[in-house]
Amino acid sequence: MYTHCPSCNMRYEVEPGFWFGAMYVSYALTVGIMIVGGLVIYNFFGDPGALGYVVPITLTSLLAVPFNFRIARTVFIHLFSGVEYKPEASQTNN
Ligand SMILES: [Zn+2]
Repeated sequence: MYTHCPSCNMRYEVEPGFWFGAMYVSYALTVGIMIVGGLVIYNFFGDPGALGYVVPITLTSLLAVPFNFRIARTVFIHLFSGVEYKPEASQTNN
């Protein structure tokens, strides 16, 4: 991931350990994936045994890690660093 914004050169890690909080967002995303995965398996695959839930949900969660990692950081920086999404502006806010 970039350390600075390519457009306005803002440093993304605004303070040491800033990304620690993104871990909680990532956790929430993973729990959401697991709940949705469990509901999908229950409703569309006829309620298999425990391994029928554990294996596909674990694999899905692991495959989602690269996406979760980035999405969690994006959500976190938008919530806690004052970053706004302005697609048309070449801004210098932070
Ligand atoms: Zn920027």
